[in-house]
Amino acid sequence: MSLRPTLDFLLYDWLDAQALNQRERFADHSRETFDAVLDTCERIAREKYAPFNRIVDLQEPHFDGEKVVLPQATHDAHKAFVDSGMMSAAQDYDIGGMQLPYTLQAAANSFFAMASVSIGSNMLTSGNANLLMVHGTEMQKEVFAKNEFSGRWAGTMCLSEPQAGSSLSDVATRAVPDGADFQDDPLGPRYRLTGNKMWISSGDHELTENIVHIVLAKIPDENGKLVPGTRGISLFIVPKRMVDTRGDLTGERNDVALAGLNHKLGWRGTTNTLLNFGEGRYPVDGKAGAIGYLVGSPGKGLHCMFHMMNEARIGVGTAATMLGMAGYYASLDYARTRPQGRAVQKAGADGGVVKDSARPQVRIIEHADVRRMLLAQKAYCEGALALELYCARLVDEQKTGNAQAADDARLLLEVLTPIAKSWPSEWCLEANSLAIQIHGGYGYTRDFPVEQYWRDNRLNMIHEGTHGIQAADLLGRKVLMEEGRGMKLLAGRIGDTIARAARVPELAPHARALGEALERVGSATQAAWATGDPQAALANAVPYMQAFGHTVLAWIWLDVAEKALALDAPKSAASTAGRTGAAAYFFRYELPKIGAWLNVVESRDPTCTELPEEAF
Ligand SMILES: Cc1cc2nc3c(=O)[nH]c(=O)nc-3n(C[C@H](O)[C@H](O)[C@H](O)COP(=O)(O)OP(=O)(O)OC[C@H]3O[C@@H](n4cnc5c(N)ncnc54)[C@H](O)[C@@H]3O)c2cc1C
Repeated sequence: MSLRPTLDFLLYDWLDAQALNQRERFADHSRETFDAVLDTCERIAREKYAPFNRIVDLQEPHFDGEKVVLPQATHDAHKAFVDSGMMSAAQDYDIGGMQLPYTLQAAANSFFAMASVSIGSNMLTSGNANLLMVHGTEMQKEVFAKNEFSGRWAGTMCLSEPQAGSSLSDVATRAVPDGADFQDDPLGPRYRLTGNKMWISSGDHELTENIVHIVLAKIPDENGKLVPGTRGISLFIVPKRMVDTRGDLTGERNDVALAGLNHKLGWRGTTNTLLNFGEGRYPVDGKAGAIGYLVGSPGKGLHCMFHMMNEARIGVGTAATMLGMAGYYASLDYARTRPQGRAVQKAGADGGVVKDSARPQVRIIEHADVRRMLLAQKAYCEGALALELYCARLVDEQKTGNAQAADDARLLLEVLTPIAKSWPSEWCLEANSLAIQIHGGYGYTRDFPVEQYWRDNRLNMIHEGTHGIQAADLLGRKVLMEEGRGMKLLAGRIGDTIARAARVPELAPHARALGEALERVGSATQAAWATGDPQAALANAVPYMQAFGHTVLAWIWLDVAEKALALDAPKSAASTAGRTGAAAYFFRYELPKIGAWLNVVESRDPTCTELPEEAF
């Protein structure tokens, strides 16, 4: 099975990505240059990532007393990725980028996520550098961002602390001005940081000569107290090794110490670390305290960080999707070759099922239940891929569209980002579970790759804002913001698809069902907030997000199916049958689930909130 035809259909036929080259920024590009990028990434993923996916799972990163050791394959994959130029693909020509649309970058990166999600730590590095390009000073861009884009240095994102994960307002890392002349450092106002950062991905390794940590910390007030809440949070660049203004290493270590490696369920190719800042193990100028350079204004750290988080959330959604896709392809191959059991034939004398054991066994793809599990995976994963690419296309629209289109894209992204992150994390994980099920007992062993896909994918509901936090963001903020304008905009887009699909006889029943679902989500949103009490409204935020997500995916599938039928007028291609079949599956088996989810939302059901703690 190849991902490419699906990707090509979604990019070029459905999203008309080729038309992006009519924008000034992308004018040098064409279908040929887009295809060349996809070809290169597909090849690197096939040669340098996929063959080593099991190796990086088995050879977890370890600390040899001096440094973190990773398998050679990880070094080779990193080098191949950097050499391809993909780290800075979307950046301007004058800093070595390709001015590639983000839509194409996201599509190209999907090959790596499918081949070996944990071997590369590239998403964090490019996200970190992108943030500095927006919020950093010219010097910070020159010294830090450019060296990250070139692959010479890597980047991290240091938000979480042992006691502050979902609740970043409780961050306790402190940053105090370093000397009276702290404002005069050309790399940015210089502070000394002390504190602990937990769960930091790629927090230590030898893949690159330096690591650029982007760290959230609080600057104490004049009484030495940390300002409560998120208002007091600032953002700092904290390099692992000290550098000068030319970007050369000074030879001195910064006071950032590896306190330990976390041993994870999956995603084992990437190190995950507890880092101690400023404990005095590596004093700088004879003093304890990690040197950090302020990015942006004091107190605006979270605002800057969110710039990185939206694209990171699309990245997480894409990773979850591609792990789901890897499991789908593996289980499809398996189901096509595994002989087991016979077809149900006729009723026996007692009315039960009879099977003729003299006949040869059938391949398991011939069993109805296995076909159900395959079609569920296809509907989850190809639907999720379409959603991620749609969101990536909105990112391009926001950056290069006219004022109205850009603002609409911004608002749509606000509403869709929690879905783009959470929906694949839940349903492409379910796809991985079905892939294991199709393999039977073999799926539960390490002789087949599907158990690793499930373990790797299980992270995605946790990091970058847990499921619960995404749901609270959606129902508590995104559908209400700007007087519900984002929600109305989304409803308008869904309405356009419904109107087009209603004219296609095969799709008309789906169009009606989607119209009803949309109305129900709208009324449930109002019912949830009917009393204005956030406790009651948000008590069932996750079921709300599940229903919202399923409605969005039904829309995506209807739109995809409508386009597939319009392009393939005789409806002869197997790919068209696959797309309309997956859409039909989604409408018949999945969309009806929203009723149960929305029942508890509409009634602000208190079953969970009111149960006394002792009764659990
Ligand atoms: C492998 C891995 C890699 C990671 N990489 C990074 C990284 O590079 N950088 C980084 O900064 N962090 C990283 N993280 C941290 C990750 O973002 C946090 O684990 C996550 O935000 C949850 O925080 P926590 O673990 O403290 O759990 P908690 O916040 O304690 O949450 C525990 C449970 O309580 C729920 N909960 C908490 N608060 C609420 C609430 N207000 N309403 C409803 N439910 C709530 C959560 O949804 C969750 O189910 C990583 C984590 C892992 C496991």
